[in-house]
Amino acid sequence: MGTLRVILGDQLAFDLSALADLDRAQDTVLMMEVLQECSYVRHHKQKIVLVLSAMRHFAHALRERGVAVDYVALDAPGNTGTLSAELQRALARHAPQRVVATEPGEWRVRAAMDTWGALGGTPVEIRPDERYFASRDRFAAWAHGRRSWRMEHFYREMRREHGILMDAGEPAGGQWNYDADNRKRLPARTLVPARRRFAPDATTRELMALVEQRFPDHFGTLEDFGWPVTREDARIALDDFIAHALPRFGDYQDAMAAGAPFLFHSLLAPALNLGLLAPREVCAAAEAAWRAGAAPLNAVEGFVRQVLGWREYVRGVYWTCMPGYAERNALGATRPLPAFYWTGDTDMRCLREAIGSTARYAYAHHIERLMVTGNFALLAGVAPREIERWYLAVYADAYEWVEMPNTLGMAVFADGGQMASKPYAASGAYIDRMSDFCSGCAYDVKQKTGPRACPFNYLYWAFLIRQKDRLSGNPRMAMPYRALAAWPRERQADTLAEADAFLAALPSWT
Ligand SMILES: Cc1cc2nc3c(=O)[nH]c(=O)nc-3n(C[C@H](O)[C@H](O)[C@H](O)COP(=O)(O)OP(=O)(O)OC[C@H]3O[C@@H](n4cnc5c(N)ncnc54)[C@H](O)[C@@H]3O)c2cc1C
Ligand code: SF4
Repeated sequence: MGTLRVILGDQLAFDLSALADLDRAQDTVLMMEVLQECSYVRHHKQKIVLVLSAMRHFAHALRERGVAVDYVALDAPGNTGTLSAELQRALARHAPQRVVATEPGEWRVRAAMDTWGALGGTPVEIRPDERYFASRDRFAAWAHGRRSWRMEHFYREMRREHGILMDAGEPAGGQWNYDADNRKRLPARTLVPARRRFAPDATTRELMALVEQRFPDHFGTLEDFGWPVTREDARIALDDFIAHALPRFGDYQDAMAAGAPFLFHSLLAPALNLGLLAPREVCAAAEAAWRAGAAPLNAVEGFVRQVLGWREYVRGVYWTCMPGYAERNALGATRPLPAFYWTGDTDMRCLREAIGSTARYAYAHHIERLMVTGNFALLAGVAPREIERWYLAVYADAYEWVEMPNTLGMAVFADGGQMASKPYAASGAYIDRMSDFCSGCAYDVKQKTGPRACPFNYLYWAFLIRQKDRLSGNPRMAMPYRALAAWPRERQADTLAEADAFLAALPSWT
């Protein structure tokens, strides 16, 4: 046999570097479903079904193209449960001249791959993953020698370098950033478009039964599974987003609404992260909509900023800072994760809504992740690793390379400012401004203290008081610290006591 080409579960792209010089007559593609990848955190049931179903469909599509695929199913006899041991068994089956793979998305898997060369003496070639705009070296070159990294600077270079939303060397419309137009609250009775969802086919249904049987105690439900599992369906999802949601994506990017978890978001991260869609085609489709007059620039620039800017930036941060990044805890947070993150059982409506849609759809949009579940973990001082493992488990799009910097860097400021210039800490007033959650909550967002006061209010001030030594020198935190300076000592002590009493009463999971 010629070459054994390994394709991992989130590498489902026909133009993957590991397939570049494929010889259909001699080569075999190896795909492996292994228990370790399904269970190293308690992944949402939908996430396991999504990845395995997309893998099975991709294997089928490769075979239809005349490619030999050796596919190891999760319940195949003799499946050892790890990628390395399955590769070793495949080496014995095929005796290839060499193994070719594409670099994985996660440090943990890369460390395992680096041992593959020693498995039996077969040469192993690991190629760069070319699906991104910026290679790991490109990001490292950008980051080298900079005192602080800011996404905005990186994003502008990417816009220039890839000619996206550029006219004659200048940003389209004359501005790089239209964020100021993109912070609107959703007016009451706004019609939100119905989103294209995909009914599970026979392959997906078979996996749903398998997952219920093998992973019954994993988080989330399967009833509302509607993710695209093929390239064709992912293209339909992209077209649906561009036609129906993109035009108002910018306006309501930061808005939240009870019972409307998707709003105008793309829902494309699961397909992008699996490889069913390429970031280049997604940005091109959005830009084409603007050039055709079908979507305004604030929406299209806002969307491109997420994909070309944030997505590439967090990948760069991950690979440049790992493995130490995983251990960062700049604010010294140690609290165990409150149990309601897994059960949704809390009187705080904003958290109930965000966690409820997470359980039902394996989805919550960015602002719910950042300003509701993330903000609470930050203010409560939840240990970064505990909240980070939660985010990795519960979302259909969660892979460590993108989830970890978002959690440690953006949500809980555990990296001390490498990713974000200040903590995204907010009181209930922010949630009230950007959502309709507070009107139906057991707590009163206007009250600052007392049994009915919104917990985000006293937790926010208690956080600032506790973190004064670490944060008061940050110029972007000057305003709240000026306000705090006017508080009498007793008021600060009472706020700390109220926050402590609330947190002490929260059951934790562990
Ligand atoms: C604590 C926390 C954890 C997160 N974990 C993940 C994760 O595991 N996987 C993941 O893909 N995203 C993660 N994000 C980023 C973002 O929330 C999701 O990409 C987004 O909500 C996915 O929904 P969507 O496809 O509808 O995105 P949209 O709002 O439609 O955005 C468009 C696309 O831009 C990209 N994008 C947007 N924001 C970011 C960002 N901050 N970082 C990277 N890419 C971004 C995504 O590919 C997304 O599909 C996390 C954010 C936070 C605050
Ligand atoms: S009152 Fe506070 S806890 Fe309740 S929904 Fe509003 S912000 Fe959340």
